[in-house]
Amino acid sequence: MAYVIDAPEPRSLPVAGTSDRFPVRRVYCVGRNYADHAREMGHDPDREPPFFFMKPAEAVVACPDGSTAVVAYPTQTANLHHEIELAVAIGTSAAAVTPDEALNHVYGYGVAVDLTRRDMQDDAKALRRPWDLSKGFDESAPISTIAPASDIGHPSEGRITVAVDGTTRQDGDLNQQIWNVAEVISALSHAITLLPGDIILTGTPAGVGPVERGETVIGSIAGVGTIAFRVA
Ligand code: MN
Repeated sequence: MAYVIDAPEPRSLPVAGTSDRFPVRRVYCVGRNYADHAREMGHDPDREPPFFFMKPAEAVVACPDGSTAVVAYPTQTANLHHEIELAVAIGTSAAAVTPDEALNHVYGYGVAVDLTRRDMQDDAKALRRPWDLSKGFDESAPISTIAPASDIGHPSEGRITVAVDGTTRQDGDLNQQIWNVAEVISALSHAITLLPGDIILTGTPAGVGPVERGETVIGSIAGVGTIAFRVA
């Protein structure tokens, strides 16, 4: 069989301990999953069910361990925000799984930054329009090397922090998630069938803020890894 145009190569991420890579299928993101961030965005952090939005796989920028990737400052915004997040890399299909079963479907974990055109998102919220272009633009999903769960286990606590040009902006702990990773996977798997290669960004702690051209973003999650990129 031939395609009428060139079929795309999947975006992919390096994997710790091997030269093989993790192919990215889809990127799902959880909104407001840390109480202090929900509050800073003007919402009640009560345990309402998690909600999800997406970024295209083509938005992923691989940020390999030990290097500083380059991310282009997007068009159509004057308020690009960083959101440091634990990325979950799905290894096997998961449909309507329970939280007890959910972690069996995880291949590994990484460190991601959910880059957001905050001004465009604020306009979309006010006009009750979708978030797609405020969240899913080119290079909006820098993600680190993936650490296999077979090496690091399934982190449920640990410092999650990000600095811009050396100044700490966000500093939280995975144990502050309103919905933990198993619960997020379970909830999402009741809405859609998770497939191998899917990535879930699991929300961000308080302290989101702007990143400007020329600044360097360095994030880390204890027990998972680090991410570094410069905004060009
Ligand atoms: Mn986010």
